[in-house]
Amino acid sequence: MTDTSKTLCPYCGVGCGLEVLPPARPGRPVNRDEHGNPVWQARGDRNHPSSKGQVCIKGGTVGDSLDRSRLLYPMMRESLDQPLRRVSWEDALSRITYEMRKTLEEKGPEGIAMYGSGQFQTEDYYTAQKLLKGCLGTNNFDANSRLCMSSAVAGYIQSFGSDGPPCCYDDLEQTDCAFLIGTNTADCHPIVFNRLKKYHKKNRKVKMIVVDPRYTDTAKAADLHLAIKPGTDIALLNGIAHLLLRHGWIDPGFIDSCTDGFSDYAQVVKSYPPERVTEICGITLSELTKAAAWWGKSERVLSMWSMGVNQSTEGTAKCRTIINLHLMTGNIGKPGAGPFSLTGQPNAMGGREAGGLAHILPGYRLVKNPEHRQTVEKVWQVPEKSISPVPGLAAWDMMLALERGDLGVFWVAATNPAVSMPDIKRTQDALRKSPFTICQDAYYPTETAAFAHVVLPATQWGEKTGVMTNSERVVTYCPAFRNPVGEARADWEIFAEVGRRLGFEKQFAQRTSAEVYDEFISLTAGQLCDATGLSHERLAKGPIQWPCPAGESDAIAHGKHDKRLYTDYRFATPNGRAKFCAFHIKGLAEPPDENFPFVLTTGRLYGHWHTQSRTGRIERIVKKYPEPLLEVNPKDAQLLEVQSGDWVEVRSPRSFAQIKVLVTQNITRGTVFMPMHWGFLWGDNMEVNALTHPEVCPISLEPELKACAVQVTPIAAP
Ligand code: SF4
Repeated sequence: MTDTSKTLCPYCGVGCGLEVLPPARPGRPVNRDEHGNPVWQARGDRNHPSSKGQVCIKGGTVGDSLDRSRLLYPMMRESLDQPLRRVSWEDALSRITYEMRKTLEEKGPEGIAMYGSGQFQTEDYYTAQKLLKGCLGTNNFDANSRLCMSSAVAGYIQSFGSDGPPCCYDDLEQTDCAFLIGTNTADCHPIVFNRLKKYHKKNRKVKMIVVDPRYTDTAKAADLHLAIKPGTDIALLNGIAHLLLRHGWIDPGFIDSCTDGFSDYAQVVKSYPPERVTEICGITLSELTKAAAWWGKSERVLSMWSMGVNQSTEGTAKCRTIINLHLMTGNIGKPGAGPFSLTGQPNAMGGREAGGLAHILPGYRLVKNPEHRQTVEKVWQVPEKSISPVPGLAAWDMMLALERGDLGVFWVAATNPAVSMPDIKRTQDALRKSPFTICQDAYYPTETAAFAHVVLPATQWGEKTGVMTNSERVVTYCPAFRNPVGEARADWEIFAEVGRRLGFEKQFAQRTSAEVYDEFISLTAGQLCDATGLSHERLAKGPIQWPCPAGESDAIAHGKHDKRLYTDYRFATPNGRAKFCAFHIKGLAEPPDENFPFVLTTGRLYGHWHTQSRTGRIERIVKKYPEPLLEVNPKDAQLLEVQSGDWVEVRSPRSFAQIKVLVTQNITRGTVFMPMHWGFLWGDNMEVNALTHPEVCPISLEPELKACAVQVTPIAAP
């Protein structure tokens, strides 16, 4: 293998470029970890357009994880009360195809479901879609992106006629006003935040507004922190709109020529006067008017959001309500302006392009659209009407289907639902009922593997070649820079092998991921996400942002990384106009009450990633973040008679967790915060999702993982 390889950080959606170096290099000492073991080294790639050489703690330590706790060979068992034992790939694949055939006979295609991941490369996503949606005839493919940004997808589709964030990272350094809502960017998208913070520091006229019930590191850098009560975002956004209207800080020319639905929207926001909004949100009149004035008087406003907005039963409504503000002020399609949803995972964007959710098909197509289905069926060489017109099971619906006994085969790949789903005790009971679960992962053990009948070793990042797309639509080539460990295989190769064994030889004839990618991009032709100008060969020369239609020159493709969508103010709706849509606030699905008086909010820590399958094996990270802590406001702590370090039991209507307290001013009274990274592998009763509820947004089907009602009781150390 080569000396230095350029690739992409496999953690978050910022998508920082990395250079990876092997432990031993000619003329240099061997790179070793704290125990003296040789380890791979990762550092920022100065030439990557998105990150320009920067990395955070996760990207900088990812080399440590390549050889820790890896799953080396397939394992199998008949039932969950038996231990998993090593088997050959042949035995594992024969069992899988047997169970799939049996389920097809007994339950039909809807008896099979796959739950994938934003950790997939685009080729993995695409091959899985072809297997499930094209060959087997079920749309039961969903990904953990459903828990992350599906509300943003729905918001973009409904407002603009297509998915696709219209902005780019260069906008961070060209805006007059950055409006961050429901995003702790400093911890969760650190390099995006670094770029914004540096620009903001240098340009004192630029305003930064942060909306968050917590006083996060993001909020600490802001000119204005709006610590709204959890779940009151829509009232705040409508209240800002009300003031924009009242003061005439709107763009009537843009509204008239580029949008529909403004007058109905204006009627609704009239019912959000400042007195009502400040009461609902728990902020002052001066804070609200300042926010509206800064938005209204700025030439260029860039809004950013992530899970704090998306993970809500009002997720889609919140996204559309943010977009409404951009439409009424003409803040889109120009430098420094636009509604920018920050994607959580390294290739969640690629998943959206490849059709990696239960209601979509490759190339930003929809399963409900007959023309879209036909186009895809032709490329997949499957008979007409092979693709079902009915959207498949979304993430939480898969748990309900398991609970009901509707599924015969449940296939989980590159994700860990036994920790990340809401109402985790109910989820784990549902997983226990599954007649046949496949868990395909790079690491072992994981909590989900404890519920699996077959465990398959997947190559991880760096051991397979493919591409990933980051939050700003930049596609990066990620070459294999080392050999697979043990008997691990690439996810796409495993899906293709099962497809061939089920009789779909023609559909899975590709022998390289470059061939898979070529077929995928043919399905983007003429779409908003047109990537027909891309190939592995071309991307190997450097990252390229889409749209990149066939024929676009290297000079443009490699040089112009600041392409925005909708610069001509024509949107992807049938009449080319963006759509206003007004929403009234509904609030939290589970508000606090007498028995459960606190709102629990959840989120990430700077150092950890998701359920720790990778970061939990990196000592440099674990030492800094050894255990979860419950953030409690000092006044609440006084009433509860607890101090930092004391143990409490946190109980919701579903279950409980036991955790140490951190008393901090960084959280408002009546709200407590608990991080999301700990599953039962790391200790007893540390799971935040033992507490969360599974109510979903009715449009995006994204669960409200961000908030539930809890009681907090002091306990002795367990
Ligand atoms: Fe990786 Fe995200 Fe950190 Fe960049 S910001 S190094 S993509 S985890």
